[in-house]
Amino acid sequence: MWRYGLGAVRPFALSLREYLRGGYLVRGQTIGALALALGIDAEPLAATLARYNEGARNGTDPEFGRGGDAYQRYLGDADHTPNPCVAPIEHPPFYAVAVHPGDLGTAAGLLTDENARVLDGAGRPIDNLYACGNDMSSIMNGAYPGPGITLGPALTFGYLAAKHMAG
Ligand SMILES: Cc1cc2nc3c(=O)[nH]c(=O)nc-3n(C[C@H](O)[C@H](O)[C@H](O)COP(=O)(O)OP(=O)(O)OC[C@H]3O[C@@H](n4cnc5c(N)ncnc54)[C@H](O)[C@@H]3O)c2cc1C
Repeated sequence: MWRYGLGAVRPFALSLREYLRGGYLVRGQTIGALALALGIDAEPLAATLARYNEGARNGTDPEFGRGGDAYQRYLGDADHTPNPCVAPIEHPPFYAVAVHPGDLGTAAGLLTDENARVLDGAGRPIDNLYACGNDMSSIMNGAYPGPGITLGPALTFGYLAAKHMAG
């Protein structure tokens, strides 16, 4: 918690009191106590953690593949080996946060031409119909090479669409 933080809790947070009081962070001195505080079964949580720890000791993450590519490793702790993205979780107290999925970008969408004009089934531009941002089929074709790859094309194709309309 001190070195890496957790969720909205930044590293080197001097006090966790507000996070705990507001219910954002849940704490337990043991995995059983944490499970109880979360209202979930202790046994599956302990088994999940044991599995994770076993892999983390060898620098692997069989379940989610953390640190499995250069982009993830770039965002990890370069001083931590063998995998900068995983380490065993074994020293109390233990903390949990609720994680909710949200959307960031899309991989599929409306096919467009170089002027952001939407194409029909035959690949012909549809008059006066433009798309950019998350509505447009990503120029990255499903890959996520790094931050900026959603806003960058969104701005660029928004600009190109406006230029084409003005023309
Ligand atoms: C936490 C987070 C971090 C991110 N960080 C980055 C980053 O670092 N770099 C990067 O490039 N991208 C980042 N993104 C992704 C990027 O913000 C989005 O891909 C981008 O904003 C999508 O733009 P958009 O215009 O397509 O859609 P949106 O920004 O979602 O705009 C759609 C708009 O349409 C409005 N709307 C919806 N329905 C209707 C309706 N019926 N009538 C009228 N209006 C409607 C919505 O209110 C919204 O304002 C991040 C996203 C998230 C969630």
